[in-house]
Amino acid sequence: MADSARPTFSIVVPLYNEAENVAPLLARISAAIEPIRAQFDHEIVLVNDGSTDGTLAAIRAEMRRHTQTVLVNLSRNFGHQLAATAGIEIATGDAVILMDGDLQDPPELIEDFLRKWREGHDVVYAVRRTRKGESRFKLWTARAFYRIIKRLTKIAIPLDTGDFRLMSRRAVEAVRRLPERHRFLRGMVSWVGFDQVAIEYDRDVRYAGETKYPLSKMLRFAMDGITSFSDVPLRFASYFGFAVSVIAFVYAVIVIVMKTFSLKPAFYTPGWASTIVAVLFLGGVQLMSLGILGEYLGRVYDEVKGRPLYIISDIERS
Ligand code: UDP
Ligand code: MG
Repeated sequence: MADSARPTFSIVVPLYNEAENVAPLLARISAAIEPIRAQFDHEIVLVNDGSTDGTLAAIRAEMRRHTQTVLVNLSRNFGHQLAATAGIEIATGDAVILMDGDLQDPPELIEDFLRKWREGHDVVYAVRRTRKGESRFKLWTARAFYRIIKRLTKIAIPLDTGDFRLMSRRAVEAVRRLPERHRFLRGMVSWVGFDQVAIEYDRDVRYAGETKYPLSKMLRFAMDGITSFSDVPLRFASYFGFAVSVIAFVYAVIVIVMKTFSLKPAFYTPGWASTIVAVLFLGGVQLMSLGILGEYLGRVYDEVKGRPLYIISDIERS
């Protein structure tokens, strides 16, 4: 790709069933990088994440029109974070820009990313000032999620930031050294450190097609984010256990005192109400604690298996 001393950048786009978006995406990327063509060499890495619609054909058609395009075909659908990881690992640029394929991340920002990078920043991430066309529910849950994860983790994961960002070569190499399979890339990039800077943008509506993140996947992803960066939930069980033990101890003392002195104050009514409440409460706490353990244990199991993160079936270049 690079034959000169010009710096190169790679644009990495994971695509899953985005047939109608491929052509408009490449057109907009091309237009956006037109003004900087003289300054930089570039490549566009399109990762086809096991699409079942016409995405592959659409990419191949576009590759005839656009040179410097790399198609990475995964052997099946591995999910957004792993497809993005595959793209980042294939990309060869001095800087790597990750963006969604549905034009929610405006390619016009690439120029700003590159400017910040040339000023010496290692990571330039795009913060959503506004998000158009998202449901109230998604906006609210996303907002809550970013604030919860901020409280639970020690590393500063920026609020309201997706994966749309530029990474310098050394930041990319650092992220590549994090081998985890339940990936929360935005957190991992924060974790590696270096000089990180934000730029604000207005998130557009999806150009065509439907979101590939239904609620169930969003919840999984949120759990991945929390479990990857915090062990606080694991300690909930101890906190609960401690609190319940203290209450139980106090209650036991009261009961013993009452029995010893044959006291029967007004609030003392023998019956199942207090018993059933205690049983249900403890049962709930125990099941929840087991569930939290399970979330972590399942992830430990996945890590221990040591399977590759993704399988590439082939790579084509234009
Ligand atoms: N994506 C992917 N594999 C998946 C799901 C999504 O490669 O299993 C891609 C998708 O094609 C898009 C990006 O990840 O380019 C973000 O997905 P989407 O726009 O559906 O997420 P949302 O913006 O709704 O959060
Ligand atoms: Mg989207």
